[in-house]
Amino acid sequence: MTGFSMAIIAPLVRKHLSADALFRLIHNDFARLPDYRVGDTEIALADALMSAFAMFSLKAPSLLAFDKERAEGNLHTIYGIERVPCDTRMREILDPISPKWLRPAFKSVFRQLQRGKALEAMTWLDGHYLLALDGTGYFSSKTIHCTSCLRRVHRNGSMTYAHQMLGAAIIHPDQRAVIPLMPEPITNRDGTDKNDCERNAAKRFVAKLRQDHPHLKFIVTEDSLSANAPHIETLHAHDLRYILGVKEGDHAYLFQQVEAAEHAGRVTWYERHDRAAGIVHRFRFVNQVPLNASNADMHVNCIEYWEIQDAKVQHFSWVTDVRVSTRNVYSLMRGGRARWKIENETFNTLKNQGYNFEHNYGHGTQNLSVMFATMMMLAFLVDQTQQLCCALFRAVWTKLGSKRLLWERMRGLFYGYHLESMRELWEALWYGYERQRPLLLTDTS
Ligand SMILES: [Zn+2]
Repeated sequence: MTGFSMAIIAPLVRKHLSADALFRLIHNDFARLPDYRVGDTEIALADALMSAFAMFSLKAPSLLAFDKERAEGNLHTIYGIERVPCDTRMREILDPISPKWLRPAFKSVFRQLQRGKALEAMTWLDGHYLLALDGTGYFSSKTIHCTSCLRRVHRNGSMTYAHQMLGAAIIHPDQRAVIPLMPEPITNRDGTDKNDCERNAAKRFVAKLRQDHPHLKFIVTEDSLSANAPHIETLHAHDLRYILGVKEGDHAYLFQQVEAAEHAGRVTWYERHDRAAGIVHRFRFVNQVPLNASNADMHVNCIEYWEIQDAKVQHFSWVTDVRVSTRNVYSLMRGGRARWKIENETFNTLKNQGYNFEHNYGHGTQNLSVMFATMMMLAFLVDQTQQLCCALFRAVWTKLGSKRLLWERMRGLFYGYHLESMRELWEALWYGYERQRPLLLTDTS
């Protein structure tokens, strides 16, 4: 690759948090997994796993497209893959593997973020991490199914098969990047019609979260479906704080208690004016009110918030176990409102920004569908790490203007040129690149 203008200095790359370093880390984790297969192990398990990772990392539109464009040179040099399986082989090898085998790779990347002090940018409110949890569906079919599909029988006897997961991401009101954690699949556990549900998935998720990160301080933020006593007890049992949405329709008793507190003079009103933006932030909050009639001993702190801009008023409410005061109510509101990042910056990015979350890369009969969805989240974690930590990545993204174009150009270079590293690829996109021109010999006679 020639034609670099050396006058432009490439933005900084943090070596241990670069895509190249993280690919090596993930490859090492995959290489440590025991091979479940007997007999034909011509393609190493780590190669099959790493190929699936590369497919999502490159945002290949389908497994077939990835198979067709197998540029073994760069897949070997950049992703460390010795032999890339064809699409059928990849499905066969990955289908029996439990997605939980990907957990070490999520942990390794997270540990690297901690070591590189990159997570400091994500701390919020007295050193806590704000952790957004939300369920999402990514597959639904009347015909294609596997043993882990959720099943819904219709009145006419027909069946709908679906896949859902409980997604989790560390978010920050002032940061666009999110740090996804290992999601918890919501699956049919034993091949019967007994469906798992989001609440059970949340229980499993927080137990594993505490195993992986016993000492980290988290404030969990979720929508109003999770503002119920059993879930709050689960969070408390795992030493997790919370900010949960509440709705007057679903939490009538709570709102009556707030009204009663208002009459008793126990609530606090607080207002903050943002004159530059022309916004009035109005709060009403009260500490220690019962959540509902059947759990009168479970007390929560309740915040109501009105955002007033011109003639437009938006109203939100939350419950939290953080004691609310005029000092922290504004921050708590921003934490509660940042919850949308799990929908917008995470699920919608995966669905609409080139990752093809709802596309069926192959369903398998056992775990393949869940495996691919989890692997895609791992590739997303590496991309978000670049977004948070790599100035070069951000500069190329800004230059190109959209993620879609960024991925398109990335694939163009990856499949068109021999490269040594992802860093070389990002630098080429930053500096501009030219095809190698042929050397012409001129006859001067
Ligand atoms: Zn399935």
